Order: sequence, then C-alpha cells, then structure tokens
Amino acid sequence: MVQVKNICCIGAGYVGGPTCAVIAYKCHHIKVTIVDLNTDRIAAWNSHQLPIYEPGLDEVVFERRGKNLFFTTEIEDAVNEADLIFVSVNTPTKKSGMGAGFAADLVYVESATRGIASVAKSSKIVVEKSTVPCRTAESMRTILETNSTGNLRFDILSNPEFLAEGTAIKDLLYPDRVLIGALQTPEGRKAQQALAEVYANWVSTDRIITTNLWSSELSKLAANAFLAQRISSINALSALCEATGADIDEVAYACGRDARIGPKFLKASVGFGGSCFQKDILNLVYLSEQLNLPEVAAYWKQVVDLNEYQKKRFVERIIKTLFHTITNKEIALLGFAFKKDTGDTRESAAITLCKHFIQERATVRIYDPKVADEQIFLDLTEPGIVITRSPYDASRNVDAIVIATEWDEFKELDYTRIYKNMKKPAFIFDGRLILDADKLQKIGFRVHTIGRKENE
Ligand code: NAD
Repeated sequence: MVQVKNICCIGAGYVGGPTCAVIAYKCHHIKVTIVDLNTDRIAAWNSHQLPIYEPGLDEVVFERRGKNLFFTTEIEDAVNEADLIFVSVNTPTKKSGMGAGFAADLVYVESATRGIASVAKSSKIVVEKSTVPCRTAESMRTILETNSTGNLRFDILSNPEFLAEGTAIKDLLYPDRVLIGALQTPEGRKAQQALAEVYANWVSTDRIITTNLWSSELSKLAANAFLAQRISSINALSALCEATGADIDEVAYACGRDARIGPKFLKASVGFGGSCFQKDILNLVYLSEQLNLPEVAAYWKQVVDLNEYQKKRFVERIIKTLFHTITNKEIALLGFAFKKDTGDTRESAAITLCKHFIQERATVRIYDPKVADEQIFLDLTEPGIVITRSPYDASRNVDAIVIATEWDEFKELDYTRIYKNMKKPAFIFDGRLILDADKLQKIGFRVHTIGRKENE
C-alpha cells in the first residue's frame, strides 16, 4: 500500500486552504504544501491576516504553519515532492460560449492538470477536490497520461468537499462523512485506500465512504442539489404563508418534527447564495440536458428559479410596503455576506437586493461585520451605495432596515436607539427570520418577515 507522506494542494481558496490546513493539523507526519497562482492570496496565508475569515482557522494554521504546513507559489517543487496532489481550484459557471450560464467552466481544472503533467517526475495520486461534472476524472487522466514524460502512473480519485463556509473547521474536524471515489481496479483501490488512511488519522472508518469514481462525482452535485431543494421548498411555502396567515417557522417546525423529514435546512429566507448551490445545480441541469434527459433538467432548474423568485418577491414586498416607491428613499442593509460567519459574498442575496434597490433609485447604506469594503465595491459598481461602520450608522435617518444576513449580532442590537434615529413610519424587513417581531412592534416598528403576514 502507498503511504502518503507528502501532499500538495493546488488552489489555496475557501476549500484548499482550510482542508489541507486541517490535514496538516491532524497528520504531523505528512508535509502539506498548498500552492496558488495568486501571489497576494499566498502572501496573506503566510501573514497574520489570513485571506479568508473562518471560525477556528487561525488557530489551526498558526499552529502548523512552517512546521508541516506551507503556502507557496512554487508549484513545480510542491508537485514534484508530493505523492498525492489535491486539485482544489475554482470551477465557476461558464460565462460565455456553449453551455454559458449552466456548464461548469473547467479551464482552471484543466490548466492545473496540465501543470501537474508538465512537471511531474514520478507517479502521483491526483485527487479531484474541486466540484466537477460527472466523468471529469476521465479527462484529467487523459491529460495527465498524454502530457507527462516518462512512464508515469496517475491514479485519479474523487474526494469532493462537503464543508460549509462559516463552519468549515468544525466540518473538517468532525465530518458526517468523507467520500472517496476511485476506478474499481486494483491500482484504483490502492490509491483509494491510501487517501482513506490519511483521513483515518482523525475520522472513524465508518464515516469514510468508498465508491466508484462516477458515484462520488455525482454525489457531490446531488448533495448540494438536495440541500438547495429543501431551501427552495420551504421558501415556496413561505409565499403561501404570507398569503394565508400561516407562520413559516411553525410550518417548518411541524414538518421537521417528522423523523422522515428532519429539521435541518428548513429555514425560510430571502434565498440561498454562496458560490456552490446555484452553480452545482446548474451543472446538474447541464449534465441532464447533455444526456438528453430534459425532464430531469427541468426538475432541478426549478430549484434555482424559485430562489430568484424569492429574492424578487421580497424586493416587491419592500417597494409595495414603502408606499409603492423607494425612489430617493434610504434603506439600511444589514449583512452583505451570503451567510453568517463568513466574509464571502459570492452569489449573496444581498447583491441582488442592492441592485434592485439602486435600479429603483434608492440609496443603500450597507453594514456587514466581516465583508471588506473593497469586496462590496467589486460586487456593486453602481452609485447609490454607502458603506457604514456600524448598524447604528447604517440605519441613521433611513426609511427601512433590511436584514440580508443572519449575523447573530443583529439579534442583539439596541433597536430602541435605532428606531429613534429612523424616519417614521419605521419599517424593518427581516429576510432571515432572526428578529423578535413582537418586541420590535412594541418599540413602534412595522415589521415584515419572510413567511409571515405583516406584524403577525
Ligand atoms: P476559490 O476561488 O476560493 O479558490 C480557488 C483557488 O484556486 C484560487 O485561489 C485560484 O487562484 C486558484 N487556482 C486556480 N487555478 C490555479 C492553478 N492552475 N494553479 C494554482 N492555483 C490555481 O474556490 P473555493 O471556494 O476554494 O472552491 C474550490 C472548489 O471547491 C470549487 O470547485 C468549489 O465548487 C468547491 N467547493 C467549494 C465549497 C465552498 O464552500 N467554497 C465547498 C465545497 C466545494
């Protein structure tokens, strides 16, 4: 059996960084080198201010960095030294050309794979950590075999990542499961076993699932599709609640108490965001279309369409409530990250909300505890945006407050102080169902919550 002693990870992003830092943290006998083309990102990984915010990440990185954990832009050396290489590069949705808007753009996976082939001097286990379309491993293997020199062997594994941003370190330390797919050949199984042994340093073996390559690739897309589908299902019900007087939290609780349904991922909201859910479902839609399965494609596409509908519906409710116009009005947007405990704004619902508000010629005063100002200006290039340093500053003299991210601190604000400094009537729109509507109503707010009639 191959014993892994040296790991390289290509891609020092939200997945590659934390995942491989945790491997280094749990496996002191393994040297882990994380490489990236982005020099600023690598410089940040080597500094006191890591490039991503993730609870618990600093402790893990600061404990192992310089011992058995290294960050570098020197890809060639790192690849050559490694017996096992994770490919953890970005796989965004294609922006132009055939399949644009749906297909995964595999340009980074291909270039990382070609990079491995061009410098490798010995046989390697190459692991897909990126989320990729089903059968990508086949393309990677062909690229590696036809572009490397010498008689090298490349075993490809699929080891999709299931961490959630905001809880990445906890998810990595205590995973529900680790999935490793391999070709079911003697060599494939050996490689699969070698990676399983790495995880077995801290994950119990009953949580390490081994499958064939294609099941593993498809399971990652399927898992994200299931999670997003639950959110779209509860959001679809939230519209019914607003129209009928049912309360979405009560409906979610009542349904979730059924052991067959379970309580998780039944929180209604303004819509899901993040770099993965939409992209991975669209990837599944594209795959289904390519395989001439239009009904399957339409089924999953509806999950994404409902998410767009939910954001639009929320904006329409805000405009209607603010006397059918928000032109020249000021709105405080509390939260800009796509969820709490991360500074990541990719596909954040807040971006869509802001764009609609600006189109209607409102001014948006944004506050988020973790998102950098530069990131907001990258996401929103339109005028009409004011970035503020506190929720109190954000809400000064505004017509309405919109909760876009479920940060815990928004539950504990001094709403009496906020109310005094707002225009009247003072509206608050809770897009994350985190506020105590009764308490706010007593202060004088007019409260609108997703999945509830006004002030009910
Ligand atoms: P990211 O954009 O944060 O990081 C990717 C990194 O890869 C970037 O820093 C980029 O510079 C680097 N890169 C690209 N091509 C390279 C190359 N040829 N050589 C060296 N570096 C290169 O992306 P991410 O959020 O870490 O996601 C990575 C993959 O993991 C994606 O496929 C994503 O779908 C998947 N995933 C993400 C999450 C999540 O929560 N972010 C969770 C599970 C799976």
